[in-house]
Amino acid sequence: MAKHKTHYEDCDVLVVGGGMAGTGATFEARHWGRDMKIICVEKANIDRSGAVAQGLYAINCYMGMQWGENQPEDHVRYARNDLMGMVREDLGYDMARHVDSTVHMFDEWGLPMMKNEKTGRYLREGKWQIMIHGESYKPIVAEAAKKSADKIYNRIMITHLLMDDEKENRIGGAVGFNMRTGDYHVFKAKAVIVAAGGASHIFKPRAVGEGMGRTWYAPWSNGSAYALPIQVGAKMTQMENRIVLCRFKDGYGPVGAYFLHLKTYTQNANGENYEKKWYDHTKEMVGEYIDHHPTPTCLRNHAFIQEVQAGGGPIHMVTKEAFQDPHLETVGWENFLGMTVGQAVVWASQNIDPKYTNPELTTSEPYVMGSHATCSGAWVSGPEDLSPPEYFWGYNRMLTVDGLFGAGDTVGGSAHKFSSGSFTEGRLAAKAACKYIEDKKADGIKVNEKQYTDLKEVIYKPLENYTVGRNEITGGTVSPSYISPIQGLQRLQRIMDEYVGGIATNYMTNENMLNRGLELLKWLEEDLENVGAEDYHQLMRAWELKHRTVTSQCVTEHTKFRKETRWPGYYYRGDHLKLDDENWHCLTVSRRDPKTKKFTMEKVPVYHIVDEKKEKKAS
Ligand SMILES: Cc1cc2nc3c(=O)[nH]c(=O)nc-3n(C[C@H](O)[C@H](O)[C@H](O)COP(=O)(O)OP(=O)(O)OC[C@H]3O[C@@H](n4cnc5c(N)ncnc54)[C@H](O)[C@@H]3O)c2cc1C
Repeated sequence: MAKHKTHYEDCDVLVVGGGMAGTGATFEARHWGRDMKIICVEKANIDRSGAVAQGLYAINCYMGMQWGENQPEDHVRYARNDLMGMVREDLGYDMARHVDSTVHMFDEWGLPMMKNEKTGRYLREGKWQIMIHGESYKPIVAEAAKKSADKIYNRIMITHLLMDDEKENRIGGAVGFNMRTGDYHVFKAKAVIVAAGGASHIFKPRAVGEGMGRTWYAPWSNGSAYALPIQVGAKMTQMENRIVLCRFKDGYGPVGAYFLHLKTYTQNANGENYEKKWYDHTKEMVGEYIDHHPTPTCLRNHAFIQEVQAGGGPIHMVTKEAFQDPHLETVGWENFLGMTVGQAVVWASQNIDPKYTNPELTTSEPYVMGSHATCSGAWVSGPEDLSPPEYFWGYNRMLTVDGLFGAGDTVGGSAHKFSSGSFTEGRLAAKAACKYIEDKKADGIKVNEKQYTDLKEVIYKPLENYTVGRNEITGGTVSPSYISPIQGLQRLQRIMDEYVGGIATNYMTNENMLNRGLELLKWLEEDLENVGAEDYHQLMRAWELKHRTVTSQCVTEHTKFRKETRWPGYYYRGDHLKLDDENWHCLTVSRRDPKTKKFTMEKVPVYHIVDEKKEKKAS
């Protein structure tokens, strides 16, 4: 262990993850904490890290309040509708009222925004989306963070949070290792903002073997955003609310610009509008939610899944009409060049020119994220002026652990934040974290040496497992005493896929399957004590896997707790196949006891703040 040099850093604000939310947090922390020491730690390199690494073609969350296009309450209603009623409206409103200012800064910083030639406004793709030439989106926001932080640490994976040894349930910092040098890093901090993105690769992906790693969601997003807080006993919410995406087949190219801007539409193999066919069936399951406009994303998925199951596939996107217009044809291709070049390559390899062939669509394996069209994540305090008592405990975006804040995919209950909303939420969390420090809530934090020296041993154990275990190999690479990270990952994906509602079962699960899944996950967790890593890169893989496993346990517990099918098209509870507003019009909240590792679950009321306000005004 001595061969891994230890570095110490004492700071005020520590930001874990330098993606959209992390760069927003780092930038804003400097504004409110001019004399504070602000550190951002990133697993990759913040210039090209996180879900926006490749760039984006649209900013999906912009109100346009300066032109009276939308108001924050409109966005709350939209997100609430899409999530079948289940959102934290205080968090959504808070993000929406600030998001425009974030986008205006992006514009000032040089992000090329498309403009409507007639009005001079940002060019709308849809009601909420504005179009950008966004290949360099991430380097631009990274620049703002780099100028704001005292130091950015790249290539360090944070594996554990540190706790204060003086006061119970108070954060003390974080530890991790540099995956290039192998050095150990101890960050003591007064406040920690976790902004480590969502989780891909916990469910078995459609692309395996030669296509492994080709998923819709960034393959490097490994659920640290959830595992880090879960491990220290922070409460989580809506972890059952995984997302399934309808995307172009094999390349997972996005469909938003196609639907909204190019006005393309879907049909089954016989050229029929299949969505209409499933109206009565869906109404039977979810009642009047199917009549809402726009149709909730999960219900559109549901029609797709049912149609394919009934033999109507493949489902196609009708591009042949739109692509006759040379301008739309250019937009269609550029849409991929700015963020998913791989889709253009897939079409080239499969001889698909969307001008002459309608490309196939597919539904993805499930992912866990808190910023897209789902809202899994940490249970956080909302803002003082909006949140009901059950949603407020002092500091905006603070988790149920003192001094631990979250933003972006980390935060649960607030869907449809996307890139701009995640950056905004990072800003909100940083402002509150600085206030927490200024209010002297972090005074007297003590992190004993034993805590981080013990963790050092735990963190490097996979290297030890390999060094010892490889001597027992008599042929090939199969070891009798350790498992490799890839073996463990495939085992995890299979458990989640077959028992927790992945593609193997057409997103179906039930209590018996979930119980079995939990049992298998427990055994996997035990076996991961014996994961072996041959180098520092594999050590990162080992820790990514451990974080994915903890996240998966939480997802499974939540899925078991909610005894209804709230979001058909994301997953189905075969033993409770209907939406049940009478018993389940509520948010689910879990906590894993750090000592016993047992989860406890509770229901928390969902408050419809926006329309309540309107009603009050009217009376
Ligand atoms: C495929 C895809 C397409 C999208 N398209 C759009 C779009 O068109 N428009 C739009 O506005 N939004 C889009 N989004 C949404 C947007 O990308 C996310 O909302 C946003 O990136 C979330 O921000 P975040 O900071 O929470 O996560 P991320 O931006 O993913 O950042 C997380 C960061 O944490 C780092 N990290 C992870 N674990 C650790 C660890 N243990 N230690 C240290 N660092 C760690 C990661 O390397 C990463 O840099 C899309 C998302 C995806 C996945």
